Amino acid sequence: MAHLWIQGDAGWDARKLTGRQFALAASEIPRVAVGETLVGRSGDEAAWLISADAGGSPVWALVASQKSGVRINGRVPPAGLCVLGERDEIRIEGGPRYFFSRELLATVEEFPGAERTVFCGRCRQPIEPGAPGVYCPNCGIWYHQTAELPCWTYAETCSCGKPTDLDAGFSWVPEED
Ligand SMILES: [Zn+2]
Ligand SMILES: [Zn+2]
Repeated sequence: MAHLWIQGDAGWDARKLTGRQFALAASEIPRVAVGETLVGRSGDEAAWLISADAGGSPVWALVASQKSGVRINGRVPPAGLCVLGERDEIRIEGGPRYFFSRELLATVEEFPGAERTVFCGRCRQPIEPGAPGVYCPNCGIWYHQTAELPCWTYAETCSCGKPTDLDAGFSWVPEED
């Protein structure tokens, strides 16, 4: 799931883009109501983030009016439209900075099951539906993750190289000004 880095008083904060449409406003203090999809004061919108589902991986586009003063990576988007890419900086004149990112975190979740038996990427044994496991967000392989079978955290990295530390957080965080 994509997220938006928002710069606040306590540093950078990653907010999941759980809805399909977000407003970005030029207010001093960014406020996000997740689910209601609003950043900043209502009526103060400078740009909109809109998602289009392209076969399971949503594409996020920013739409801004020409007079809004919105810049993507320092440039005014042509025709006020920009499809967002990894680590794109969104800046609103007189307002906060944002960064767009698609980095996913590995978390322990229940294995939902699949049509065919899925085998663990570490121990090669089947993973039962409902069993706690980790889905590698980098390569898409499932691993057991229980007290008896800590297959995800057994090694320092997944076979694809993704670190398996469950508390590591995001590998990329925007730099402070
Ligand atoms: Zn296993
Ligand atoms: Zn992996």
